[in-house]
Amino acid sequence: MSDNLQEKESLNFIESIIDKEIKEGKTNVYTRFPPEPNGYLHIGHAKSICLNFGLAKRFNGKCNLRFDDTNPVKEEVEYVDSIKEDVKWLGFEWEGEERYASDYFDQLYDWAEKLIMEGKAYVDDQSSEEIASQKGTPTKPGQESPYRNRTVDENIDLFRRMKAGEFKDGEKILRAKIDMASPNMHMRDPIMYRIIHKEHHRTGNKWCIYPMYDFTHGQSDYIEGITHSVCTLEFENHRPLYDWYLNQIIDTEYRPRQIEFARLNLSYTVMSKRKLLELVKEKYVSGWDDPRMPTISGMRRRGYTPESIRNFAEKIGVAKRENVIDVSLLEFCVREDLNKRADRLMAVLDPVKLIIDNYEGVEEIVSVENNPEDSESGFRDIPFSKEIFIERDDFMEDAPRKFFRLSIGKEVRLKGAYIVKAESVVKDSDGNITEIHCTYDKESKSGSGTEASERKVKGTLHWVSARHAVAVKVRQYDRLFNNDDPAAFDDYKTYLNPDSLKVLDNCMAEPAINLLKPLDTVQFQRQGYFCMDKDSTKGEIIMNRTVTLKDGWAK
Ligand code: ATP
Ligand code: MG
Repeated sequence: MSDNLQEKESLNFIESIIDKEIKEGKTNVYTRFPPEPNGYLHIGHAKSICLNFGLAKRFNGKCNLRFDDTNPVKEEVEYVDSIKEDVKWLGFEWEGEERYASDYFDQLYDWAEKLIMEGKAYVDDQSSEEIASQKGTPTKPGQESPYRNRTVDENIDLFRRMKAGEFKDGEKILRAKIDMASPNMHMRDPIMYRIIHKEHHRTGNKWCIYPMYDFTHGQSDYIEGITHSVCTLEFENHRPLYDWYLNQIIDTEYRPRQIEFARLNLSYTVMSKRKLLELVKEKYVSGWDDPRMPTISGMRRRGYTPESIRNFAEKIGVAKRENVIDVSLLEFCVREDLNKRADRLMAVLDPVKLIIDNYEGVEEIVSVENNPEDSESGFRDIPFSKEIFIERDDFMEDAPRKFFRLSIGKEVRLKGAYIVKAESVVKDSDGNITEIHCTYDKESKSGSGTEASERKVKGTLHWVSARHAVAVKVRQYDRLFNNDDPAAFDDYKTYLNPDSLKVLDNCMAEPAINLLKPLDTVQFQRQGYFCMDKDSTKGEIIMNRTVTLKDGWAK
């Protein structure tokens, strides 16, 4: 144990709490990640996943995956499946089978009856609007419901009839009878059960009453033997209510310990599932896994690695106070990881033809390092020939003095190959350059051992042999919003970045691109990291830009 702990410089505050407990004799650590299956997971959830599963790992404990599936109106199997996939992809394993709050519906129902029998819960006939209007404010007590003093017999009869389906949605609800004057609004006779005539993804039509999250969550932790119920700060003032419920229904001493931490907020994006669902439904993005989305599935499709996300979660740490993390830190983590693991490839995104007039051969092979950051990655062969593509903006006819790329009369090295000098250009009738004619220094081939092969020139360009080039489609992604805090605005959609997706149809890559499989990531030299899209086929290769080589947004 202590070995594990020493790996990191310091413990986060939750680790410190648990470490202290262990020193005081506590023996087990059992956490859980409890998503509601009403949307796809996002990077904020990743923080919670890394924290909960990380605690279990660090302290040799266990971590459950539990779906808080108490609202059949918003929940779907599609979300359940995606959540399981995302947690696994991030590299975590939950204990045994995944759990569902709906597995506890019978037990929760029995506990609700127990509260009624003891005069601690009652059926209210008022509408939710009426109830809300009686809530009061933090400084002004609420008003008691006219139904608050129903007899136990009447309450139990009505609750059973609610369960039997005798009433319509909203006609009756079950409330806890606590204290309408409590300074904690959550204690003012909170709702326990509401009527929802809707099939549930697991319990089918067995129920038409469903427990509220607050009447489910603490008990679910209790049932599963959770020791540390880690959640975000907004649940801090729900804690007295969770405690109240457990104190009414449980007579043993064991309680899960709730510890709150600050949720992750990330700049240039929105993270509420409601807003993300809007973006999907209203087709601002292509789906939950659109590479611009802050979802885990979107990041996976974009080429982010689980390691980079876990590393990000570690870097941002765990705190008690909310703040906003700059998304460029996440991008930095992605870059840092891909730099180590992504092979380099040459691709020209905006090609213009370069012809080497004095090249006499047909073609030859040059050898280039796959990844200078990885000594085991080896070399690969690339075909070179008389006609190649270079980037259009790597050439200027009349270049300023500081332009170290190609211009008339100047030399550059073609990466891994020869030094070429531009001699003349051919243009179409609109004045666009269609061909750049060059001569090359025959002796300058990289690695050939000649004096000229060592010759230094100012610029090195990436290139692709024209007759070997593979056409690819490139999707250049940028940030989805052009405001650093779009969530602060009701009309957050007006801050969508109109340039968040640019499709380049006419890119040319070296033949090695044919060896990639969907979701493989490479570095296109001088351009950035790119990931093969899942919809790529042999006939159409689509590459998503994962991240640029440098932070283009840095001020
Ligand atoms: P909603 O957007 O519907 O309010 P939610 O984002 O809270 O939902 P849940 O499915 O309830 O989603 O979240 C599952 C777990 O992930 C909870 O424990 C929640 O506290 C945590 N979580 C959610 N968002 C973040 C975030 N931004 N940072 C850290 N943890 C988060
Ligand atoms: Mg929630």
